[in-house]
Amino acid sequence: MQASRIQGVQDPREGKKSHGPAKRQRKTQKLSVAYEASDDEKGEGAKLPEAPGWEPPDWQQQLVNIRTMRSGKDAPVDQLGAEHCFDPSAPPKVRRYQVLLSLMLSSQTKDQVTAGAMERLRARGLTVDSILQTDDSTLGALIYPVGFWRSKVKFIKQTSAILQQRYGGDIPSSVAELVALPGVGPKMAHLAMAVAWGAVSGIAVDTHVHRIANRLGWTKTATKSPEKTRAALEAWLPRELWSEINGLLVGFGQQTCLPIHPRCHTCLNRSLCPAARSRGGP
Ligand code: SF4
Repeated sequence: MQASRIQGVQDPREGKKSHGPAKRQRKTQKLSVAYEASDDEKGEGAKLPEAPGWEPPDWQQQLVNIRTMRSGKDAPVDQLGAEHCFDPSAPPKVRRYQVLLSLMLSSQTKDQVTAGAMERLRARGLTVDSILQTDDSTLGALIYPVGFWRSKVKFIKQTSAILQQRYGGDIPSSVAELVALPGVGPKMAHLAMAVAWGAVSGIAVDTHVHRIANRLGWTKTATKSPEKTRAALEAWLPRELWSEINGLLVGFGQQTCLPIHPRCHTCLNRSLCPAARSRGGP
């Protein structure tokens, strides 16, 4: 699911601009001069600049190729992801709650099924209060057939009660608080931060991102879980690309780099992809 910020919502991590006195600025400049290397330090024995860390050899071209293949923006995630499932005319905290709910419904579920469940829920007015007033069997019937719908009924009720009691009906604005909610995992938390709060907190890694990162060699060694893949990607991928990666790779995984029988013959990365080569590709 691609991250796009809810309009008019302030990034909670954005601080106020500094308006400190000019005197302090002059002091800072002076300090940076004091740390410049002296002539002696520049000579023999001077500390060499740190070597850049590991990064996959062809990642920049691979990324350009994926952007080209995804330029049509016609994958299910592009029309039905979390940023399309909330009511844009609802108050900000209701929109944020709807984003979180759509993410909770989306695990182990196709985007089309999640979108259908969200439509049925929104038709009744989807707020923390309305969910708490809905009995479990009605809620189950509304979200069916999302994956693990029985467990999700329980988690949605528990999480909604916590949001009402502790957060005034809003959702928390940190990954740590989000993952503490029943039924909310790290991928959902990072996407909620991006879509609901407009904050880049980490790379949201689902099964598509996990699989494709391993196929392309974007992890230094093979990783066995999405959380390990997230850490491996965040170790080298420039931070300004973190919010783009989820939507880009999810759609790529839905259309080309399929879980079984990936369409390597139509993939622009076939000559750069270790997985294509290992399958006897070009
Ligand atoms: S070449 Fe095949 S395995 Fe590699 S990224 Fe493309 S579709 Fe996926």
